Amino acid sequence: MQNINNILHKTELTLNDIIYLLNVNDINEKALFLHSQVIKQQYVGNIVYYRGLIEFSNICEKSCYYCGIRNENINVNRYNLTNAQILDAVKFAHVNKYASVVLQAGELATRTFAKRIETLLYKIKDITNNEIGITLSLGEQTAQTYQRWFNAGAHRYLLRIESSNPKLYYKIHPNNTKHSFENRLQCLQILKNIGYQVGSGVMIGLPFQTLTDMANDLLFLKQFDIDMCGMGPYIEHSDTPLYEFRNELLPQKQRFNLALKMIAILRIMMPKINIAAATALQAIDPMGREKAIKIGANILMPNITPGKYRNSYKLYENKPCTDEEADDCTKCLDARVSMTGNTIGYGQWGDSKHFTEKT
Ligand code: SAH
Ligand code: SF4
Repeated sequence: MQNINNILHKTELTLNDIIYLLNVNDINEKALFLHSQVIKQQYVGNIVYYRGLIEFSNICEKSCYYCGIRNENINVNRYNLTNAQILDAVKFAHVNKYASVVLQAGELATRTFAKRIETLLYKIKDITNNEIGITLSLGEQTAQTYQRWFNAGAHRYLLRIESSNPKLYYKIHPNNTKHSFENRLQCLQILKNIGYQVGSGVMIGLPFQTLTDMANDLLFLKQFDIDMCGMGPYIEHSDTPLYEFRNELLPQKQRFNLALKMIAILRIMMPKINIAAATALQAIDPMGREKAIKIGANILMPNITPGKYRNSYKLYENKPCTDEEADDCTKCLDARVSMTGNTIGYGQWGDSKHFTEKT
């Protein structure tokens, strides 16, 4: 029989070790979370950094089988914030000392879109005296576009691999050139070569996904040497093709619990990376993000999208805070973070230590 403490103190976790940890319960689960908590405190401290999340458009040319804003879903009111609205949200983040913003949207790979983002990036740097850090989460683009956006001031990029198992990847995406696993992987490599801090991650509790898949996901993130991670539970959406398989899913609570374990194990495997407490955790458990912060996450992405659009950016059901404005989120989050024994790194970029020490 394996002993949990032997595993937790190994220098490298094997596939079997990770599967073992994903299976622990009761006191062994407590031991895992306690250990990841200590590692977090030791390597990145009990500081949480904010990234003001601006979900500026739900127009998407892709049709991922799990996502509520997929191109083929006709029940979505499509919106696209104006540049002025985006810049207002950036100003809100800047004034409130969030120090960083994330620009996220459905995927568009047109020249007009690439140009629009480039112009916006220069403008954002300009109106904030270069003080705001910028993360992009705009899907797969050409190397040239990634480079232009980097030159214009973006320095972090989030592109989840969604699943590191190509077979599973093609079960949750259409099998065509727009949804190529190989291309997604190549994009991650290009982003790294350009010099971005690269974030990736997966969904946890997908239909057809096994614990071995999840353990391999963590080994993939480690092997790719990511700088940041965003991963959270998969949550079904009735207007998507994957909804058909809802009866095969683990109960939401179990998906949530697995997501927490994935975060804890990754913190142990990669102590200095930035790990986000994904919003999807909160969709299942009202205290979900706080629980993630306690056991390993150190990044929060408060939603600063103007409230009236939030209901139209529903990647999954029960998305929290869709009836609130950015101001409400700030007050509520401050109290929530201090409950976890963490402080907020106001005014600090909070770049990935893993990245800064590497370069
Ligand atoms: N279009 C961009 C960014 C927006 S989607 C992209 O795809 O990269 C951001 C993330 O939302 C995706 O990477 C996916 O992991 C997550 N997501 C989408 N649908 C989801 C669902 N039903 N449950 C949980 N996460 C979901
Ligand atoms: Fe579009 Fe991203 Fe949703 Fe896929 S996950 S459909 S690319 S918004």
